[in-house]
Amino acid sequence: MTRSEQLFERAVKRIPGGVNSPVRSYGAIGEAPRFIEKADKCYIYDVDGNRYVDYIDSWGPMILGHNFPEIRENVIKACENGLSFGCATGIEVEIAEFICEHIPHVDMIRMVNSGTEAVMSAIRAARGFTGKDKIIKFAGCYHGHSDCLLVSAGSGVMASGIPDSAGVPKGCTQDTMTATYNDAASVEALLKQEEGNVAAVIVEAVGANMGVVPPKPGFLRRLRELCDEHNCLLIFDEVITGFRLAFGGAAEYFGIRPDLVTYGKIIGAGMPVGAYGGRKEIMDLISPCGPVYQAGTLSGNPVAMAAGFTQLKYLYEHQEIYKDLAAKGEKLYGGLKKIVEEKGLPYQVNYDSSLASIFFTDQEVKDYVSAKTSNLELFAKYFKGMLKRGIHLAPSQFEAMFLSTAHTDEVIDETLEAMRGALGDL
Ligand SMILES: *Cc1c(COP(=O)(O)O)cnc(C)c1O
Repeated sequence: MTRSEQLFERAVKRIPGGVNSPVRSYGAIGEAPRFIEKADKCYIYDVDGNRYVDYIDSWGPMILGHNFPEIRENVIKACENGLSFGCATGIEVEIAEFICEHIPHVDMIRMVNSGTEAVMSAIRAARGFTGKDKIIKFAGCYHGHSDCLLVSAGSGVMASGIPDSAGVPKGCTQDTMTATYNDAASVEALLKQEEGNVAAVIVEAVGANMGVVPPKPGFLRRLRELCDEHNCLLIFDEVITGFRLAFGGAAEYFGIRPDLVTYGKIIGAGMPVGAYGGRKEIMDLISPCGPVYQAGTLSGNPVAMAAGFTQLKYLYEHQEIYKDLAAKGEKLYGGLKKIVEEKGLPYQVNYDSSLASIFFTDQEVKDYVSAKTSNLELFAKYFKGMLKRGIHLAPSQFEAMFLSTAHTDEVIDETLEAMRGALGDL
């Protein structure tokens, strides 16, 4: 038995499924997850001494690669002053000013501890501001695990939500409506049906939680128009795309101005941080200055802020990174697409900049329903083939590959060779 297998055997007895978040499980693969000991640059090392090229990047935060020296040093410095005060600190002001000064659609921002909290709070703010209850989300978009957002069931336009999880009362999801990604008409139909009752439309501007599903040209712009026409707010869930597609996230990348945005992942550089922000007149309603209650004992934690602020400053000051990531994406994902075509395989390679997925289906993947046509057995085989070749991918079809600046051209070439081999073995 490997040490990972031994740890997993102990873990399942005390932690549900042996993991503290289901995405870490190798359930779809049928193996024990690799237990990780350390990581550096584009590599992670498991407890058995195996080294893998890592394309999870902690699900996005490690955009500069693991163990980035400046971030590590500033975190250590912050620790020396104490881990938490539960009182206001200067760095919270600095990071808020920095984000608001450099992201035009963020007038004010509030720090929280996870993406889930960020989205949950943004929805509350949208409802408080508009005085309306209904929200529209897209099937296949993930917005954290708060009750009212655990809805994605049903193809096409559904009038009311069906909870995806046991333990979520119908009452919590009855105001959540589900539209079809890349289909603005499905949103329009819901807005008309519930005219005057919709607080917000929330979207992952690049779908990255049903595998990667980029928006079709015009889709996001149409959402902006529809929200304006029907007097509701547009929320971009930028927990993955924020500071990744561009410094100003998907909003900058696609040139669309949302009313509220949510951040997570990159904003904490690996520490548990989320944030939500946007128009001043909405954010002015948040407690303690307004009636929308939202709080957090550890929000704006000084160690977490030291990590996040260092990463954000670095990204802002080195915006050539975004061109570089897009070029790396073209090399790796474009290269994968070429391999698939050369081999005459019917699979789909979806990508945008540093995010990508391969779907084992002959259908174009443009929404949740088409994403679900992927052959999951082939995915599991492909995953194992890559792992055997030293490449660590997300152990699920419905997650993204994340490139960081630490993935060198040489590593990308190695990865392409591994992809050629793993696809050849299917
Ligand atoms: C990861 C993610 C979340 C949830 O963030 P957590 O920090 O896991 O709570 C929300 N929205 C999107 C788009 C995400 O990718």
